[in-house]
Amino acid sequence: MRRKVSIFGSTGSIGCNTVSLIEAQGGAEAYEVVAVTGATNLSLLAEQAVRLKAKYAVTSIPSKLTDLQSLLYGSGITSLAGPEGLLEAARVPVDWTMSAIVGFAGLAPGLESARHGGVIALANKESLVCAGDLFMRTCREHGTELLPVDSEHSAIYQALCGEKMSEVERIILTASGGPFREKPLADLTDVTPEQACKHPNWDMGQKISIDSASMFNKAMEVIETKYLFGIDGDRIEVVVHPQSAVHSMVGFCDGAVMAHLGPTDMRGSIGYALNWPERRPLPLEPFDLVALGRLDFAAVDHEKFPSVNLAYRALREGGLAGAVFNAAKEAALEGFIAGFIGFLDMSRLVEHVMDEIAGEAAQFGSEYDLSDVQRIDGVSRVAARSWISRHNRK
Ligand code: NAD
Ligand code: MG
Repeated sequence: MRRKVSIFGSTGSIGCNTVSLIEAQGGAEAYEVVAVTGATNLSLLAEQAVRLKAKYAVTSIPSKLTDLQSLLYGSGITSLAGPEGLLEAARVPVDWTMSAIVGFAGLAPGLESARHGGVIALANKESLVCAGDLFMRTCREHGTELLPVDSEHSAIYQALCGEKMSEVERIILTASGGPFREKPLADLTDVTPEQACKHPNWDMGQKISIDSASMFNKAMEVIETKYLFGIDGDRIEVVVHPQSAVHSMVGFCDGAVMAHLGPTDMRGSIGYALNWPERRPLPLEPFDLVALGRLDFAAVDHEKFPSVNLAYRALREGGLAGAVFNAAKEAALEGFIAGFIGFLDMSRLVEHVMDEIAGEAAQFGSEYDLSDVQRIDGVSRVAARSWISRHNRK
């Protein structure tokens, strides 16, 4: 029987890699593709839907529905649009879901997918940053298996196979340090989004590439680690490792440290999640240790990258502080891309919004629902935009 799959965010960087792996493993003959989803790139979305013989193609933008319908006219594929369209597609039970929408927008469809069991391959780390307790609880209640796609968390997941969490002392996330690792703090004031987008090791979407340059991506991964593996923030460490060959590590109570190494290619962790619990050969470059030559490690420069400590703060405050952190970070990133604020302003802005709202957000504890998260997200964005308008460079 063909495995039923849906790919949310299929037109993005993770989504396209997922589609290419599914096609390399037999495409529509081996998989019954229920839904593919995207936003603005309708021609790619329609092309993927046709190639994979999907049942639904969904654009997140309501006004694009008729364009999508015209592109798919006569194909027998149903076009859907908007947040409701995404939820409708997520309600169809499947065996495997890729959750690879970028940002907060991925949370609601991800939660809906988590309600029908099966496996969720989670690339949308924002789901855990904003609503870790709710997301993990939903998966538990519906017997849904959650597999990380983020390379670090896939590495940790693999290093933990057959191990007991009670014997884990710490989890060590590796961070490349991004394109500005060697730039002095003073030179970061005027860097541009184009410079921030040039990741030294990984080829990723624009937002996550800039988040890597500011280390907000690593900050989010600290929060993601807490919820995925149920480990407190004070046992999660971040170490800079410029080669990105060690994808992350787990330290055990007997002093052993298990490291996961491999090529810097997201198809490694996507393929692991796609084929889990088995492993299959993947079309990756061979991992050449001699060519690599050396592995370097260094401490995070917290003065240059205050984002990492803001994530630890969100974990200490608890409740919905992560949702505040994420909303402020998304608004900051948009402000930076638009040229309204500078690179270093992004952390200042997030800190300011956390000062203002995280206390209220922390009151929720672990018992909250999606509407609570949406409300905190909304007020945090308002506070962030007001900060941006007061500090607008343009
Ligand atoms: P991307 O920007 O390349 O693609 C995002 C996808 O989401 C696209 O299909 C886009 O059409 C869709 N989308 C955008 N806005 C939307 C909205 N408002 N509603 C619904 N859909 C929307 O992003 P990406 O780099 O593939 O990242 C996707 C997720 O995976 C992010 O959460 C990111 O942090 C995570 N991730 C990515 C990588 C990577 O290598 N790219 C690695 C680890 C984790
Ligand atoms: Mg990562």
